[in-house]
This record gives sequence, structure tokens and C-alpha cells, in this order.
Amino acid sequence: MTHRRYQYGAAAGTLLLAVAATVCVYRGMHVVAVVFGVGVLVLLEAAARETRRLRRARTECDWARRRALGENPAPLKPCCLLGAASHGQVHRNCTDPTRTSLTRDTP
Ligand SMILES: [Zn+2]
Repeated sequence: MTHRRYQYGAAAGTLLLAVAATVCVYRGMHVVAVVFGVGVLVLLEAAARETRRLRRARTECDWARRRALGENPAPLKPCCLLGAASHGQVHRNCTDPTRTSLTRDTP
């Protein structure tokens, strides 16, 4: 899975930059250490984001597998990523059977 690869890459980069920042602090290069520290924060957020995406992809895969087997699983929360981003106005690849793909609710 691509999400797992990005997650591992970001985590490895976080670790390397943290080590580099620590070495820079010990050698008195504080400005460089701050730059590496910012890089650590950025990569840490990227790793957390990929972890969330991986978890969502696994949940959607399990939901689709159960549906293909004839079960009627409850919709995921949020029902789809586009629905969550649009505050329920637009849905795509939605897990809520009452919503159709790319529908727009009229206010
Ligand atoms: Zn939805």
C-alpha cells in the first residue's frame, strides 16, 4: 500500500532529522538545529496523516468486503471523505446507501 510506504518514509525522515538536530545542538549549530526541528515537525505531521489515511483505507476495504459478502454494514463515520470535507453537501464513493454518488443536497 502506498500509504504505508509514505508513512514509513516520513517516520524514517523524522528519526533522521531528529538525530541530525540533536547532533547540531551538541555542536553549537543552533540555527541549523532549529531548521531540522521544523523538518521534524513537518515529517511527523506527514507520518500522522498517512497513518490516518491508511486506517481509513483499511476500514473502507473491510466495509466493501463485508458488503460484497452480502452483509449490510453500517455506514462509516464520516460516510466518505468528500462528504466530510463538504459538510455533507457532496458525496463520492459513499458508504451511506441513502446517498448516491456525487449528489448535492438542496438546502
Ligand atoms: Zn458520504
